[in-house]
Amino acid sequence: MDFQLTEEQKLIKESVRDWFARNLPLERVREMDTKGHPYPQDIPKGLGELGVIMGTVPKEHGGQGLDWFTQTLIAEEIGYADPTIACAAAFMAVATGWGYTLDKYCSEEVREMAIKPALKGEKFVGIATTEPGGGSDVAAFKSTAEKDGDEWVLNGEKTFISGVEEAREWGGGYWVNVRTGEPPEDAPHKNMTSFFVPIDAEGLEPDKPYRDAGRNALSTGGFRMENVRIPDSYRLGEEGKGFYRTMEGFDNARLLIGASSVGVTQRILEEGMKYIKERKTFGKPLAKYEGIQFELVELYREMEATRLMTYKTAWMQDKRYQDGSFKPKDVAKWISMIKWKAPHLALEAANKAMHWLGAAGYSDEYMFEMAWRGVMSYCVGAEGGENIQKIVIGRELLGPDYVPYK
Ligand SMILES: Cc1cc2nc3c(=O)[nH]c(=O)nc-3n(C[C@H](O)[C@H](O)[C@H](O)COP(=O)(O)OP(=O)(O)OC[C@H]3O[C@@H](n4cnc5c(N)ncnc54)[C@H](O)[C@@H]3O)c2cc1C
Repeated sequence: MDFQLTEEQKLIKESVRDWFARNLPLERVREMDTKGHPYPQDIPKGLGELGVIMGTVPKEHGGQGLDWFTQTLIAEEIGYADPTIACAAAFMAVATGWGYTLDKYCSEEVREMAIKPALKGEKFVGIATTEPGGGSDVAAFKSTAEKDGDEWVLNGEKTFISGVEEAREWGGGYWVNVRTGEPPEDAPHKNMTSFFVPIDAEGLEPDKPYRDAGRNALSTGGFRMENVRIPDSYRLGEEGKGFYRTMEGFDNARLLIGASSVGVTQRILEEGMKYIKERKTFGKPLAKYEGIQFELVELYREMEATRLMTYKTAWMQDKRYQDGSFKPKDVAKWISMIKWKAPHLALEAANKAMHWLGAAGYSDEYMFEMAWRGVMSYCVGAEGGENIQKIVIGRELLGPDYVPYK
């Protein structure tokens, strides 16, 4: 086992950190979080030039053909740069994790129309699974598609979708799951199909973006589909197999969320250390007091453990795609462990750091409260809440007879 990064990985990591230090310093992150969406497009365009959006897309499809481990290092740097996680959510979890999966299953027509421009940061591609009836129970969705000749006619509603406003402004579209037939009673995940739906499709009506607690530079919204007609060439993968394709997309997105959350924790601890070394109470720096120093040390230990778990998971993910030596279900357990652990740790680190700063930690003078608001989105729901990750881990440990949803 070799824990060294290759020269190429070191170079990519350094160039991403350097690019963000110049283009997205914390002051700009604060400005963007205060002003709100839509996301400024110079950032995805710059990332597109660096070749790090959808870096894992094969070279023959216009990507960089990076391995998942390297993409994980990039996601970590993006979390470090923007601890509100707006940038990582938009361009790693959504555009890259889901974008890679979209590219894998889409037709050449969709690739030319959406993937290639999204690789350059010119368009936005995202994922729309969640419905008003709920997001965790992916098999319970109500939206439908009916075949009409060479076309499909989609009806239904999607909510809490990242990037709807950006997609409207820049162009692009969504991976959308719908029912293409009644599922058998004992297998509600069957007869679901995934499609690429352009945001400007006739009959697609976006809602006003929601007012979220955090990661405010990126919009969250919803849309209704009323008789939206799309050609069969927009179908993603086989008819009726959408559930499995969607689980693969979740795996790819969740891995990058784990990595970016490790980057957020790193930034919180670095900024927190600066503060507690300088701030004095009772004549001594805060960093000297065990009540504070030991909290820092405990968080640091947890961060390094989580980073190692994340790197191992990325390595397994590479094996899954490169030689099949890990099966999707082997990797899914690890992915769920880091999707649960890494954002939770970042939230805890932000919470502790806010306490170290006292009143200053509660104000917008420092980055901690915006990091706290941002990573909370990954704990409560985005790409699956914490309990859903526990259900995946429990299923792999105890076997499918013990899942709560059967
Ligand atoms: C900022 C943000 C961005 C998002 N972006 C997108 C996006 O781009 N695309 C998209 O499709 N969705 C998106 N979502 C929605 C997200 O996928 C859902 O929030 C998530 O799937 C949970 O669904 P829900 O919110 O409807 O909660 P519910 O499914 O109603 O669940 C509510 C709570 O109960 C827990 N729970 C559910 N079932 C069980 C169980 N069996 N046992 C124990 N606990 C359980 C859940 O973990 C959750 O905490 C986003 C959410 C957020 C917050």
